[in-house]
Amino acid sequence: MVSMERTASEVRDGYIWKEQDCPICNAAPTRFVGSRGGASHREGLGVEAEIWECGGCGLIFPNPMPIPAGGLGQHYGMEADDYFAHHDVDNRTDGANEMLATAEKLLGRKGKLLDIGVGRGENLMAAIAAGWDCEGVEPSETFADHVERISGTKIWRSAIEDCDIEPSSFDIVILSAVLEHLYDPDLVIKKIAEVLRPGGFVMLDVPNEKGLFFKAGNLYQKARGRRWCVNLAPTFSPFHVFGFSPRSLRKLLAKHGLEPKVWEVFGGTSLVPSSGGLMGKVESLGSKAITRLSDLGEMGTYIQTWAQKK
Ligand SMILES: [Zn+2]
Repeated sequence: MVSMERTASEVRDGYIWKEQDCPICNAAPTRFVGSRGGASHREGLGVEAEIWECGGCGLIFPNPMPIPAGGLGQHYGMEADDYFAHHDVDNRTDGANEMLATAEKLLGRKGKLLDIGVGRGENLMAAIAAGWDCEGVEPSETFADHVERISGTKIWRSAIEDCDIEPSSFDIVILSAVLEHLYDPDLVIKKIAEVLRPGGFVMLDVPNEKGLFFKAGNLYQKARGRRWCVNLAPTFSPFHVFGFSPRSLRKLLAKHGLEPKVWEVFGGTSLVPSSGGLMGKVESLGSKAITRLSDLGEMGTYIQTWAQKK
């Protein structure tokens, strides 16, 4: 007799589709948010996935989770050269200096800093120039080679959870625009808490998937009679696979003994790239207006926090 039992995972369209529980609550998601990608995308980007929400903390993620069958290089390897092409390097350096000033103020001194996901190395280079003792984590060989060459500092070349870093050895860990890309955010925050010294800080920022920008986008899809959502991008750039909100991020940090000392939810730049055509223009203008409106409450598009290890 053929078993009709649902398999834990299958391979389709270049992805391993794996049943996904909430990694913070270890529970199956309870609310369907909408479908995303492929036939459920305005430009048909990626492969269609179902986005679900955890009833325990509000974290959102695809279920099943599409994991690139060819490894992470399938998403990031081919993009290594142009992934940061649209980033303004001067802006990033200004942002890095502001961030380092906050780190020094919170810590009361400079110290040992770990930058996770160094990319082209703007944060790391600014930290070295400012007198911090730095190391980086960068699984992409292309970026790691580049940054090790220009900085002369140690770059760990695997996922943070696999790096053999001495526990309680860093004062500051930077995880900027990274957590939403990772397939096990719980394990990553656990590891960060482990490598931080007591009293040290992790700075992290993530998109706020419960922000007005996403709420309005989802209502807009609903009004057009679609079951689509505008949250996450599990199978197309920028490859966001887990979606946080103030509630889920606070719960994740608390779980690992990290206490937010600075907490900001803010508008930030629109996540929607301007695309051609009237509809693209209308959507882009709408999203900019929402960005300005959503500075109220915790409805902003981004969350940034400095959380201290107890
Ligand atoms: Zn949860």
